[in-house]
Amino acid sequence: MTDTRYLVHGVFWDGAPAQTVRHDGGSPVLRLQSPSGNVREVSLKPGARLGFAVADHRRFCLGHHKVHSASSRDHILCPASARAVKGKQCERCFVLDDSRLIHDFHRGGRVPDGLRTYLLQDHWLYVATFAGGASKVGTASHLRKWNRLAEQGAVVARYVARAADGRVVRILEDMVTREAGLAQQVRSAAKAEALAGPLPAATLDGINERHAAAVRTMLGQAAVDGSSPEGSSPEGSSPEGFSPEDFSIVDELWVRPAQAAGLCAPTARHTYPHPLEQGKHGFGINALSGTNALASLAGTDAAFVVNLARLAARTIVLGDFASEVPAVQESLF
Ligand SMILES: [Zn+2]
Repeated sequence: MTDTRYLVHGVFWDGAPAQTVRHDGGSPVLRLQSPSGNVREVSLKPGARLGFAVADHRRFCLGHHKVHSASSRDHILCPASARAVKGKQCERCFVLDDSRLIHDFHRGGRVPDGLRTYLLQDHWLYVATFAGGASKVGTASHLRKWNRLAEQGAVVARYVARAADGRVVRILEDMVTREAGLAQQVRSAAKAEALAGPLPAATLDGINERHAAAVRTMLGQAAVDGSSPEGSSPEGSSPEGFSPEDFSIVDELWVRPAQAAGLCAPTARHTYPHPLEQGKHGFGINALSGTNALASLAGTDAAFVVNLARLAARTIVLGDFASEVPAVQESLF
C-alpha cells in the first residue's frame, strides 16, 4: 500500500502539555486521511523523517466538526470528498461546521446544546508574540489552554485573563483589539517568514511583556468600570457590561514546548526553496514550532524552515523521497 493517497488534515499538537521549558509537549503529528476514511498520524517529533510526493496540488474538503461538550466532539469527514471552496472545506461542510456558530453565541445568538456546553467552560485570553515580533490577542478553551498556543507556533505568550465562558472571552478579545490595537490573527506565511530570521529571545519577551501589561491595565479599568471603556459602545448600558465573576486578570507565562527551541533560537537557517504544493520532498525534522519545521536535507549542513501548513487539504503519497539540495550553497553561509 505504498502508493496510498492521503488527504493531509494538518499539524496537530493534541498531546499532553510541556510542564517545563526543558520538556517536549503536545506530541505533534501530521494527520492524514486514507481514501477509506481511516486516520493515520505521522510523528513530527525531533529526529523524525518525513518523505512524501504531492499527488494532487488542488485542495479537498477536510469535513466538519460537531461539538458535543467541553471535551467531546466528532470530526465528520466530507461524504463527497469534494473540492475545497471555502478555505479547506466544501460549501456543505462549511455550513454544517459548529465552529462557525461560535460567533453567533458571542453576539447573543442561539447555538446547539453541545456547542453551548463547550462554550460555557472557562476560557483564557492570551497575548502571543511570533518570531518577527508580530503579536496577537487570542482565546483558548480551558481544556486546550496550552495546546492552542502550541499549534499557533507562539515564540512567547502570556495569559492575561481567565474568563467565565467563551462569550465573555471573545468580548474581551474584541475590546483588546479595539482599544490596544492588537490583531486577532497573524498569517501562517508571516510566521514562517519570520522564523527564517527570528529576533533574539530577550527582544521578543520584552515585546510580549509590554503588550500583556498594557492589556492587563486595560482589563483592570474595564473591571472597575463594569463596562468596556467609554465611547466604545453606542448605548449607556452596553451588552459588554461586566460583573466581577465574568473574568479575572492573570499574569502567567505559557510554557513553550522544548521541540520549538531550535526554531526560535536565532541560528543560521534558510527558507525552504521548493514549493510544498507540488513535487517530491524528504527531510529530517530537527525542531517544530506550530506548523513550521526546521528541516535538515541529506547532502548539506544547512537548515531550512518548512511551513507544513501549506500541505493542508492537499493529497500526498508517503515514501522514501529526498528533497533536492538547492544549488546556492555559497550565498547560504
Ligand atoms: Zn465537505
